[in-house]
Amino acid sequence: MKVRTRYAPSPTGFQHIGGLRTALYAYLFAKKQEGTLVLRIEDTDQKRFVEGTEEYIIECLNYLSIKPDEGVSYGGDFGPYRQSDRKDIYPEYAQQLLDSGNAYYAFDTPDELDAMRKRLQASGSSIQQYNAITRGEMKNSLTVSAEETKSFLDSGKYVVRFKLPENETVFVKDEVRGTVEFNTNQLDDKVLFKSDGMPTYHLANVVDDHLMEITHVIRGEEWLPSTPLHVLLYKAFGWDDEMPSFAHLPLMLNPDGKGKLSKRTGDKLGFPVFPLAFDHPTTDQSSNGYREMGFIPDAFTNFLAFQGWNPGDDKEILDREQLIANFSLERVTKAGVRFDFSKAQWYNEEYLRAMDNEDLADLIIRSKPEGYEVSRENLIALTEMMKARMTFPQDFWEQAKYFFSTPSEYDGKTVRSKWKEENKEHLKTLCDKIVNLDSFKAENIETCIKGFIEEHGLSFGNILLPVRLMLTGVKGGPSVFEIAEILGKEEVAKRFESAQKTFDEMQAAV
Ligand code: GLU
Repeated sequence: MKVRTRYAPSPTGFQHIGGLRTALYAYLFAKKQEGTLVLRIEDTDQKRFVEGTEEYIIECLNYLSIKPDEGVSYGGDFGPYRQSDRKDIYPEYAQQLLDSGNAYYAFDTPDELDAMRKRLQASGSSIQQYNAITRGEMKNSLTVSAEETKSFLDSGKYVVRFKLPENETVFVKDEVRGTVEFNTNQLDDKVLFKSDGMPTYHLANVVDDHLMEITHVIRGEEWLPSTPLHVLLYKAFGWDDEMPSFAHLPLMLNPDGKGKLSKRTGDKLGFPVFPLAFDHPTTDQSSNGYREMGFIPDAFTNFLAFQGWNPGDDKEILDREQLIANFSLERVTKAGVRFDFSKAQWYNEEYLRAMDNEDLADLIIRSKPEGYEVSRENLIALTEMMKARMTFPQDFWEQAKYFFSTPSEYDGKTVRSKWKEENKEHLKTLCDKIVNLDSFKAENIETCIKGFIEEHGLSFGNILLPVRLMLTGVKGGPSVFEIAEILGKEEVAKRFESAQKTFDEMQAAV
């Protein structure tokens, strides 16, 4: 059997990272099984359609290089792949269910439905569903006369509902959760088709999975409660033997484990929950995205793959090929996954460090701020020095700013503790020695400084730190000897001089 999975988002809003994780798992699974990934756009709910979100979904897939084998914008033999373009396919399936007695017409107004719920609530019933228990009291083709049914149908005010069997146990076999049982009395006779000629999600989803020969339905946990209905639909259509396997992925939770990962929490804690930045076309909603923040695709793919799955050993860094080779639905976790933004950052740092300096320099140059001039060759050399200090490519410019301009500020606390009388004269002498070196190479500078410290019985911290400060303004960074070599003798001399003046002033101001 050839594996066919699908990613079936609805263009009703901007896709959250949870949606992209679903796409990634469907992709990893398909690739591992040498199967096919289909992108199907489920846009039956036209009222909730949001302009631009279909394109957004495709761009998110592009960001992680998830290339579906078939689907909207990818083509294929099972198209069209957008449900609104398949509108003509569904009525016959609704009719088939009506004819076989697995569905019926319902004519209740929203107020009548509401009244039913209130009535059931008031009577203390924990279930307020339209089903075998209640449908007899409602307005539908099972309860009203044939003439009345005809007049409702003629007026176009109807829906088609699935007729759930009474008090039956439905077994859903889930690849992640094992067998999950549902009793039909707890479920709802869901609307399958509406008088505007459009199917609802449930009908279109099942019909399309069948027609597109989907073998594995991989989707978020929020769809698990709908699955018994889908199983019953397969049976009602007589497609039992071709029922796909189901795998429901754990929810992505807020970092404190309370509730689904939300934009509100992300905004509060300072991280996005969307793969790409967007501005909503009609509301004032907007968001930053992982791509725009500087998360490189391979790092973000690796991170996302581990949000609800792991390979079962302690390896955390897996490239695309390794993810594919290791992926299995059995190792998808059941429990919700707390989101950990610092882990996403850690992945980015690891991937940046592992990159070739040339490739990383190419990324860094794209975020170059105004006023920084650097040759590619120098940038590559600096990249090597700075890559261990960056979370995002653009961090380079802040981390390495002292290579491009004389420090305008110095770490005050360090200046005050190190620029002391007993040190000052030594430092001045050492600075003179350094700028008079014949060969201004890192190793010569190092020998000079270390020799001086030893000769005068000084401490490293009291000498090296202020030298670093004079050159960079900050306490931390790569080898100060290498920094000096890159800056060059003339620049170092200039910085020593102006820093010493500033240090004197800072000390005097205390
Ligand atoms: N259209 C559904 C969604 O937007 C897909 C559910 C499924 O994959 O069956 O999430």
